[in-house]
Amino acid sequence: MVVVMQEGADETQVGKVIAYLVDLGMDVHRSTGASRVVLGVVGSRSVDTRLVELLDGVHEVLRITEPYKLASRTFRKEDTIITVGDLKIGGDEVIVMAGPCSAENEAQVQQTAAACKRAGAKVLRGGAFKPRSSPYSFQGLGEEGLRLLRDAANDHDMKLVTEVMDISQIEVITRYADIYQVGARNMQNFTLLRELGRTRKPVLLKRGISATIEEWLLSAEYILAGGNTDVILCERGIRTFESFTRNTLDISAIPVVKQLSHLPIFVDPSHGTGRRDKVASMARAAVAAGADGLIIEVHCDPDHAMSDGAQSMFPAQFDRLMAELRIIAPAIGRSICLEPAARRGWAR
Ligand code: PEP
Ligand code: MN
Repeated sequence: MVVVMQEGADETQVGKVIAYLVDLGMDVHRSTGASRVVLGVVGSRSVDTRLVELLDGVHEVLRITEPYKLASRTFRKEDTIITVGDLKIGGDEVIVMAGPCSAENEAQVQQTAAACKRAGAKVLRGGAFKPRSSPYSFQGLGEEGLRLLRDAANDHDMKLVTEVMDISQIEVITRYADIYQVGARNMQNFTLLRELGRTRKPVLLKRGISATIEEWLLSAEYILAGGNTDVILCERGIRTFESFTRNTLDISAIPVVKQLSHLPIFVDPSHGTGRRDKVASMARAAVAAGADGLIIEVHCDPDHAMSDGAQSMFPAQFDRLMAELRIIAPAIGRSICLEPAARRGWAR
């Protein structure tokens, strides 16, 4: 932290600021410029900069270290690579997760999973416990949905990511899923984050609807601090004054997070736009901007989906997008599932 004193601050004021900081256990290094005194402050404890700003003679206080530690690049220089079976998340390969918003019935889950796998997705997504804005909307099939999703993931040799909304669901979800998803509405459910910190499965942590990048990384810190090092960040659009799209997808969060953190970053262009006709452009942009992966809603019959149909791609649209990503990823030095399973003679 750097404390810049006001021009003309007197020795008594400077002395009091130094004494206050030393009292808190900080080391203070003073330098006197032509017109101002500047104090460099280091120490292991975090000091509320606003309290220092209120002291007499202080002009401004600048924080130079991030409030999150384990999530920061300062703590770990190399990218974190998360292993899920034979899958590596955060490495060279761009990983695509795809599937329906919600599991609805066996045929829907099976058909959608088959289409996603054929196109090159490695992880099946799908909700069994759904956070819906209205209590009257479809809330998900619960454990029956988890069973349908797990069976489809096994049948199509995919991993499974599914949302956990509450501590009470962790136990049942652990039995079915490979990766927990924490939804945007739960990004600051600190009791849930703490509990997931005690588990040993990766957590896909979505950015909150109105969360700053710093708040998002602090939420990741809760999971990391519990001992679970496998956190995947996911940009899914934030709420702005723009209302044409459902949310505003913050593509710039990708390079910003890459600079601030070693954790993998994914992008969800489905919730980010809310419209299937805008999903492909944003998915392409996300990969070009350096995202480590995508999570995309695909449905075998999106016009009749029980949730998020408007933003769910038809299988053929998703297939085409994957073909486009196979051109973009190598252009920026990344790989992506090169051959769709179907072309390798995979059939089911
Ligand atoms: C979802 O993935 O279906 C979902 C509800 O996402 P979000 O938490 O980003 O709204
Ligand atoms: Mn959804």
